Amino acid sequence: MKTTIYTCAKCEFENSDFSTWGHHYYKIDTHFITINRDIAICYSCKSIVSAEILPFENEINNLEIEKSVSKAELEAIKLALSSRKTGPRCLNCGSHDFEFIPNFKISKEQVRYRLPVRTGLFHRNCGGRIYADTDTPKFFMGDRLPKRYYNKDGIEIKSPINFK
Ligand SMILES: [Zn+2]
Ligand SMILES: [Zn+2]
Repeated sequence: MKTTIYTCAKCEFENSDFSTWGHHYYKIDTHFITINRDIAICYSCKSIVSAEILPFENEINNLEIEKSVSKAELEAIKLALSSRKTGPRCLNCGSHDFEFIPNFKISKEQVRYRLPVRTGLFHRNCGGRIYADTDTPKFFMGDRLPKRYYNKDGIEIKSPINFK
C-alpha cells in the first residue's frame, strides 16, 4: 500500500491517508454493500479521511450484490439506500463538515525529484494550499487491511456481529 501525506503550506496541518485504507461497507440487514467514497479533509476530526459519495438513484437501481440475495431482499436494500435523509458523512467521525480533495496530476518531474504535488484544495482554516507527498514508504499489510462497517446513514457500527 502507498501512503500519501497531505500538508498545508501555511499552517501545521499534516496528516496521512492511513484512515482511508481498507474496506468500508454499509451493513443493511445481513448484507454488506461497498461504500462509494473519496479522499477528503474533515474539519471536524481535522484529518485526511474517506468521505461518502452518496449513490444516485440510477446507481441504486442498478445495484448488484451477491447472487444469493432474493429479489425481496434486494428491494429492501435499495429502499434503505434510497430513503436516506442525511447528507454524505466523513467515514472517520460522521461529520458533514468536509471537503473532497480534487484529483491532481503528478508530473514526471515531480516523480523524478520527489516533489510534493499541489492539490487544488485550500485549507479552510488558514487559506494555505494543501500539498500531497505521494513518495512515502510503502507498507505491506497483506489481507490485514481493516474492514469498517456503517449503517445506511453512514454512521459507523463498531461491532457488526451484534447487529445481525
Ligand atoms: Zn492550513
Ligand atoms: Zn471527520
